[in-house]
Amino acid sequence: MTLLWRDSWLKPLSDFDVGADKCGYCKKAFRKIDFVTACDFCDKGIMHDACANKHILSAHKKQLEAKINLHKDKPLHDFQ
Ligand SMILES: [Zn+2]
Ligand SMILES: [Zn+2]
Repeated sequence: MTLLWRDSWLKPLSDFDVGADKCGYCKKAFRKIDFVTACDFCDKGIMHDACANKHILSAHKKQLEAKINLHKDKPLHDFQ
């Protein structure tokens, strides 16, 4: 099993940071409050957190595995 750690703190993005009012994956408009993130591997834009997970797993499986292997030997809580 491999678990991937995301930044756990919540940071409100400005409209400028977001640059879109809908998800880059499912194309649904964001709600008033939504959990979003960006892809680590391409500039697809802001996506729902769950959508980004699906996108990364389907579009970047190889890159994801490479990244996992790259960090395998490091301790769990090594924040770069
Ligand atoms: Zn979405
Ligand atoms: Zn991507």
